[in-house]
Amino acid sequence: MTCPDCGEERLPFAVPSALREDVPGKPSSVLLCPHCLQLEPVENPDAELSDFTTISDVLPEDRDAAAAMTLATALLSSLALHRQRIDALLDRVEAAGVDPLLVLDRLADDPELEPNFDIESRRRQLLQLRE
Ligand SMILES: [Zn+2]
Repeated sequence: MTCPDCGEERLPFAVPSALREDVPGKPSSVLLCPHCLQLEPVENPDAELSDFTTISDVLPEDRDAAAAMTLATALLSSLALHRQRIDALLDRVEAAGVDPLLVLDRLADDPELEPNFDIESRRRQLLQLRE
């Protein structure tokens, strides 16, 4: 299950039920590319991501918060389209006691991540939107 955009092996993980309504298509699981953050819904994957630090070691330790943070970051590829979903997901990260904009700042510095959008400029847009 390699990424159609960059060829990296994608990682499947279950979307926590509380987060499903904030993910396009309300999938039970998704495949995420740990290189370019391409996201695709998937049904019944044969594996499950054991540790979100495989994607980036700056993600929160709390599994649900890490899932919300990962999904929100992937959706930043279309910030205008997914604005409400991203807001809801980041609110959940915040509710877990983690500053999502600080995590985004660290994700922007992670050399392993090369999404097709600039995380740092999206973070600045979010900062304005969430004030
Ligand atoms: Zn990729």
